[in-house]
Amino acid sequence: MSSQLLGHSAPNAHAAERSVQVRDRADRAWAELRRRGILPTPANFELWYTHLGGGSPALSRRLAALLDAGAAPSSEQLQELHADCVGQDIDVDAIADSSDQIEQAACAVIDQVAGSQASLRGYGEALSGVVGRLNEDQTLSGLVQAIAVLTAETARASERNRALEQQLSASVARISKLRQTLSEAKQNATTDSLTGLCNRKGFDHRLRRAVARARSDGQALCLALLDIDHFKRINDTYGHPTGDLVLRLVGRVIADNVKGRDTAARYGGEEFALLLSGTDLRPAAIVAGQIRTVLDGKRLTVKGMQQDGGRVTISAGVSQLRAGDNAASLVERADAALYEAKRLGRNRVCIESLTPDDAWR
Ligand code: GH3
Ligand code: MG
Ligand code: MG
Repeated sequence: MSSQLLGHSAPNAHAAERSVQVRDRADRAWAELRRRGILPTPANFELWYTHLGGGSPALSRRLAALLDAGAAPSSEQLQELHADCVGQDIDVDAIADSSDQIEQAACAVIDQVAGSQASLRGYGEALSGVVGRLNEDQTLSGLVQAIAVLTAETARASERNRALEQQLSASVARISKLRQTLSEAKQNATTDSLTGLCNRKGFDHRLRRAVARARSDGQALCLALLDIDHFKRINDTYGHPTGDLVLRLVGRVIADNVKGRDTAARYGGEEFALLLSGTDLRPAAIVAGQIRTVLDGKRLTVKGMQQDGGRVTISAGVSQLRAGDNAASLVERADAALYEAKRLGRNRVCIESLTPDDAWR
């Protein structure tokens, strides 16, 4: 069973070590592409860079299968792999557009406030002019004239203020709408469109944050990787659209079984990930086990097809953060446990550091 002791290292030493690792990984990715005669496009570089970091076992496995096939992988195969395991459709244009518009609207507000100050200054000057004239001419007609000027200036100032107020409130409304658009674009960028769960990018971000938080507050952190069993067979038997429906169903069951502060994500293809904060290994395995049980109890019924009763089962591997861990090593151990669950016959949950007792059904 894993220990709760979590390591701390000096931030500067850590940053230096990290930059050496990043350079080394980039060099190795580059060398690998050259050695294999693969075009060093940004996407291919990102594939190898991610693979060498070990943070995406699904990618590493699929890449190994492609490379084991003998012939060099085609650019289509590499593109598909990138789309499945690395790339996410982030609406960069929408984010950039909203940011630009917010900046423009903020500039407009600044102009409006400056306009309001100028208008106040003008009104103040008009009042001083009237006071000056009254000091010089204190006759009745002078007084009447002063009142007439004051009335006209006050009416002008209040008209200008009303117009400025309208402009300001229009700008505020526009900014708040743009802020909403921006937050929706950000949300879309980290959401998997098929299942509505967090996508890989969002998950990686939350995983890094959760690891850092667990290190500082010493709370337990567990990761479960869940993979649909023989999903290729489901696609082959019922067709890809049904496969997509199964992915949605699994996503929904996973979402139904996690609490508010936990993160459920589509990790890639037919693989899902669960991040459970403040939860130890066995309770985490129980959560994964509940998901497995709910799915095991369901039967596929496909309209227009005679053969129904197909099963959707999942295998899962669970790991817990230990001293000296980072996000990649936590993922690696959950993946090793998942691999073990597959090896033992699928439709089960295994926890890391396997002994026969650790197989959780
Ligand atoms: P295992 O039990 O060992 O996990 O076997 P498997 O068939 O589930 O695993 P394998 O990796 O051989 O196949 C995964 C399949 O998932 C292949 C791929 O076409 C399919 N897949 C990946 N993403 C999607 C998707 O978005 N929709 C559908 N319908 N299929 C997908
Ligand atoms: Mg699978
Ligand atoms: Mg898989």
